[in-house]
Amino acid sequence: MTGIRNIVILTGAGVSAESSVATFRGPGGLWEGHRVEDVCTPRALARDPELVHRFYDERRAKLTSVEPNAAHRALARLDREWPGELLLVTQNVDDLHERAGSRRLVHMHGELKSALCAACGNRTAWEDSLPPETECPDCGTPALRPDIVFFGEMPYQMERIERALAEADLFVSIGTSGAVYPAAGFVQTARYHGAETLELNLDPSEGSAWFGESRLGPAGELVPAWVGSLGI
Ligand code: NAD
Ligand code: ZN
Repeated sequence: MTGIRNIVILTGAGVSAESSVATFRGPGGLWEGHRVEDVCTPRALARDPELVHRFYDERRAKLTSVEPNAAHRALARLDREWPGELLLVTQNVDDLHERAGSRRLVHMHGELKSALCAACGNRTAWEDSLPPETECPDCGTPALRPDIVFFGEMPYQMERIERALAEADLFVSIGTSGAVYPAAGFVQTARYHGAETLELNLDPSEGSAWFGESRLGPAGELVPAWVGSLGI
């Protein structure tokens, strides 16, 4: 990997697995015991807001008992020390990347520690539980919902991500199953624009064939080793 200046990194639930945050599909295709359709869709929110709000309340509460792992810390060091452009795009809704110190970071699927107003669209930092019909601090409508991008909704900051992918010399995907679009297509965009592509994952993912190189193993080992190899 010579002549690398601009790096885009995509992370998924696998990067937080060693911090004891459950991955999505896990055994049986469930997220913490729930079918994805029951907690990750606009229809589920409309049908059973109590369940959906409680589900994300539990995930948010759990954040106080977990810590960033060696993979998050290595990516934060890379962010601090890398002299070129760098963008860390995470599909994760936990706050472990920022707690480790990453700053050039996009939460494309939203954040547990944020509430979104379904009426005015404003986003508000949120620490506590969020019952349905909580009033929006901006417009006063009782319409706050978890700030999570559900299936069928538009991820955040896609233009910024597409721009970074077009300028990337290296695209690295870490701990993601490659099953959720548009993130699963980033490798193809990066390749199209001439980037080298590297996958770091525990198991071969659905998109493994698209990568120039795939390394298999736990993120807590593979990520520090890869960052260490960049010579910073
Ligand atoms: P996923 O659960 O579908 O896939 C996780 C991938 O990580 C798998 O390919 C698995 O082999 C790999 N993996 C598991 N343990 C690993 C480890 N120790 N080291 C390296 N790789 C490991 O997750 P996804 O692709 O991110 O898609 C899931 C969606 O679920 C995202 O949209 C995200 O918003 C949501 N989600 C987020 C969190 C979180 O914020 N931590 C947790 C679960 C789900
Ligand atoms: Zn509002």
